Amino acid sequence: MIGIVKTVEPERIRLAYDAGLLDAGENYLQEARTKIPLCPDGLKWHFIGHLQQNKVNPAIDLFSMIHSVDSLNLLRRISARGEALGIEVPVLLEVNVGGEDTKFGLSPDDIPRLLEAAGELKGAQVQGLMCMPPYSDDPQESRPFFRRLAALFQSMNTEGFPSWKGRHLSMGMSGDYETAIEEGATMVRIGRAIFGERK
Ligand SMILES: *Cc1c(COP(=O)(O)O)cnc(C)c1O
Repeated sequence: MIGIVKTVEPERIRLAYDAGLLDAGENYLQEARTKIPLCPDGLKWHFIGHLQQNKVNPAIDLFSMIHSVDSLNLLRRISARGEALGIEVPVLLEVNVGGEDTKFGLSPDDIPRLLEAAGELKGAQVQGLMCMPPYSDDPQESRPFFRRLAALFQSMNTEGFPSWKGRHLSMGMSGDYETAIEEGATMVRIGRAIFGERK
């Protein structure tokens, strides 16, 4: 489980850490830059927001995993930086499962094409997929989208692209994490259910 801490102050993040939270997620690089140094060292940080190509270097410095890779160019940039640092950056591909204009993310059809085109990556590991289904009050509405992401994940495992090291499905938030787990989530991203409503 990843505690999503956008707008949450370091003091409250520390309380969650003391209560056992190990992973934290943040959407905004600017916020993360000032906040992460004030948080417990033991936390592992996940970037879940939209990443601009010119922000790849600071993002890799601050975060252990990037959940929101939404283009081949971004993936190549991350890999180039990882290679320069002598590391393999764990990333997930963000899939716009609802085909929403308002959301970032690749279309499901883009995924095999992107993995094919990526070839062998020296500085990044594509460890799986992430999604955020269209908003709904009813978790059952999310189920078909989770199921679709899980099916895509399975078929990429079967295809076995050199750049693909599939092991994670990042899906499910405060309103629908139980459904996501039923459909195979390995990481749920929980904000409000831990920290309360955001101001
Ligand atoms: C805010 C956010 C979450 C957490 O949402 P909650 O409803 O507060 O649990 C999860 N994933 C992403 C990408 C987010 O932006």
